[in-house]
Amino acid sequence: MARLMIIGCGGVASVAINKCCQNSEVFDEIMIASRTLSKCDALKEKLTPKTKTKITTAKVDADNVEELTKLIKEYNPDAVLNLALPYQDLTIMDACLNAGVHYIDTANYEPEDTDDPEWRKIYEKRCKDLGFSAYFDYSWQWAYMEKFKEAGLTGLLGTGFDPGVTSVFVAYAKKHYFDEIHTIDILDCNGGDHGYPFATNFNPEINLREVSAPGSYLENGKWVEIPPMAIKREYNFEGVGMKDMYLLHHEEIEALGKNFPEVKRIRFFMTFGQSYLTHMKCLENVGMLSTTPIDYEGHQIVPIQFLKALLPDPASLGPRTVGKTNIGCIFTGIKDGKEKTLYIYNVCDHQECYKEVESQAISYTTGVPAMIGAMMVVKGLWKKPGVFTTDEFDPDPYMEALNKWGLPWVVDENPVLVD
Ligand code: NDP
Repeated sequence: MARLMIIGCGGVASVAINKCCQNSEVFDEIMIASRTLSKCDALKEKLTPKTKTKITTAKVDADNVEELTKLIKEYNPDAVLNLALPYQDLTIMDACLNAGVHYIDTANYEPEDTDDPEWRKIYEKRCKDLGFSAYFDYSWQWAYMEKFKEAGLTGLLGTGFDPGVTSVFVAYAKKHYFDEIHTIDILDCNGGDHGYPFATNFNPEINLREVSAPGSYLENGKWVEIPPMAIKREYNFEGVGMKDMYLLHHEEIEALGKNFPEVKRIRFFMTFGQSYLTHMKCLENVGMLSTTPIDYEGHQIVPIQFLKALLPDPASLGPRTVGKTNIGCIFTGIKDGKEKTLYIYNVCDHQECYKEVESQAISYTTGVPAMIGAMMVVKGLWKKPGVFTTDEFDPDPYMEALNKWGLPWVVDENPVLVD
């Protein structure tokens, strides 16, 4: 029996909260704490008749460490699950340290203001030292290792699907199928159609920042950076069919490169349709993806935040989205002296997700692993002082939980490889 505090009440959080309520044997009490209290209350009202889990709600500004620390101390949870935005990772980690509570999230830290000169100095040095220019990286959260160790607290970083499940797939492949892994290709395919000319499946600001940035991959321990969308491949995905996919930078590559140094190449591909890419390029060309505030008729507005207000709310896509997602990892390597290939993936159906928790599959495939990660920590199955990514624990109980909680996976020992 555990008490969990969930921060945020958006697309991913609402799935994780639904799943905690289905899992009331583990989560007998939860608090939904977010910026807009009415969203938390509405969800509580909807779920209360269907669950044994006792739900409380609170309004909190997770950018404010003092306010958040006070709330955590008052509620006294076993762990805090951060499903706000990557901008809040560090303030929530600080509050967890102040209150002596375990911390879990689904995405690594990224600053809201990328023009902040202090952050920019560190960022530019990192770009030069490491060789990739994404705004997000693990250094900020890995810097909490000693503090979490000293406090005897677990910080579980990145327990969504990718990162999260994909890194558990790597640990599972290593544990059960390989003596040595040589290459990893992470393939993220969304074959869903929501019927809008343009919409993003999760927070538009975070999503558009990610996909409009240069791509990069790790080869022989070094980052190779390429212009956005410069490497394209086609792949025939089970449950979806043939899709174009593009190489992107993605945060799990950094953690996997550090934790599995024998792997010679790690790449990440995501599928995009031509219409999505054309819209995005156009928005980028006119400056709508910029995070730098501009003065408009006496108001300061951030173009990408204004765009977010225009685009469909990702949470509203659920009823209209049809089709499937297929996300997984293709491995090559050696077992018992012989070359071996392997593909582990999950196929998830948008409409099935909607029927179950009134959400599309992107939020579902993130929210379910968020609940599972929190369960691993509160049950003590994944508990070690410090901050760790999901590939650094025993993958078996997590893999079992994926099958049980709605994300069953498939192992293919003869996959088509990506060239
Ligand atoms: P949403 O924008 O739908 O939800 C974010 C929620 O956080 C909202 O409820 C928002 O409040 C709340 N929030 C924002 N700022 C604050 C603050 N300062 N204090 C308190 N609450 C705040 O985002 P998503 O649900 O799509 O994404 C959630 C997280 O999941 C993100 O970090 C995203 O990067 C990550 N993610 C991870 C994936 C993975 O596979 N690993 C995939 C997809 C997403 P309000 O309701 O007022 O807006």
